[in-house]
Amino acid sequence: MDNSANISDLQSLITKMKSAVAPLRDILNGLHAKYSAVQEGAVATYIPELAKADPNWFAISIVSVDGQVVEVGNHQQLFSIQSVSKPFVFGMALEDHGREHVLTKVSVEPTGEAFNSIVLDERSNRPFNPLVNSGAIATADLVEGRDFPQRVTRLLEMFSRFAGRSVHIDNTVFLSERATGHRNRAMAHLMLNFGMVRDRVEETLELYFQQCSVLVNCHDLAVMGATLANGGVNPFTKERALKAEYVKDLLSIMLSCGMYDYAGEWAYRVGIPAKSGVSGGIVAVVPGKFGIGIFSPLLDPRGNSVRGVRVCQELSQRFGLHAFEAGFTGRTLQDELARK
Ligand code: GLN
Repeated sequence: MDNSANISDLQSLITKMKSAVAPLRDILNGLHAKYSAVQEGAVATYIPELAKADPNWFAISIVSVDGQVVEVGNHQQLFSIQSVSKPFVFGMALEDHGREHVLTKVSVEPTGEAFNSIVLDERSNRPFNPLVNSGAIATADLVEGRDFPQRVTRLLEMFSRFAGRSVHIDNTVFLSERATGHRNRAMAHLMLNFGMVRDRVEETLELYFQQCSVLVNCHDLAVMGATLANGGVNPFTKERALKAEYVKDLLSIMLSCGMYDYAGEWAYRVGIPAKSGVSGGIVAVVPGKFGIGIFSPLLDPRGNSVRGVRVCQELSQRFGLHAFEAGFTGRTLQDELARK
């Protein structure tokens, strides 16, 4: 049978798709070139394995809820997810226990303090929010399973559903975190003292170190963001990664607490729910539209990727992405994707 007509149809479709994303690719290439020149900040060294990162790694990925992908730079480079894991594990805690119980163990107030602050809320003894270390450890405690291996497996399955592929733990990073995580250990024991975590505290710390050591790339971060933007359903696999009712819980704490003690200024300037991690990743979510992944390990003193913050700020301003943007008259990101 002669199927040459089908093949040429397919080719013209591919060409069309390529040209549709070309303008946005040009824009991202422009941002990549502009911010590659920024050499400020430093790679995290307090977890020895993170110090091995190449300061030149830099990637930007955008994935739309209908599965279009535009990405530039080292978007396949793997790195440990670190704190970007925190909102996703919070989602698991919500699914396992419901909103009200979770709120008795971890609050949802921005701290204005560093990510590794040991301070708890004086009145309730709760950690301030699930996106600082203390709150993330309390959240990890809420991940259920009949034993430790099952808790780890459930965690990995959750991340895999968000990323749309099977993700794994970097054992070297995990061991490095475990060997040096004294401050996190101190927080966990303080919370045990106040009854905020159960007395399987060493096991929960292991789970927390494992969740921080999950390997992802920048493309994965954008897919995970797009899954949140898409109401909890992965745009490629169509698998549900999070119950729809909890998507807003994750997005609201990401907007108010996602960037540590820069969270207030981030909400003001950028206005997109996002979460950063000390390996240099940022996931950002434009609800109903896009997930954005950025990876550049040079960090500012607060622990946020220097280039990542600047790229998000520019994307937000250029395309009117701020959650409270009114009467935006410029070209939207969708316009760019749709341009022929
Ligand atoms: N694993 C890191 C820690 O606990 C995560 C911190 C981060 O990414 N901000 O210190």
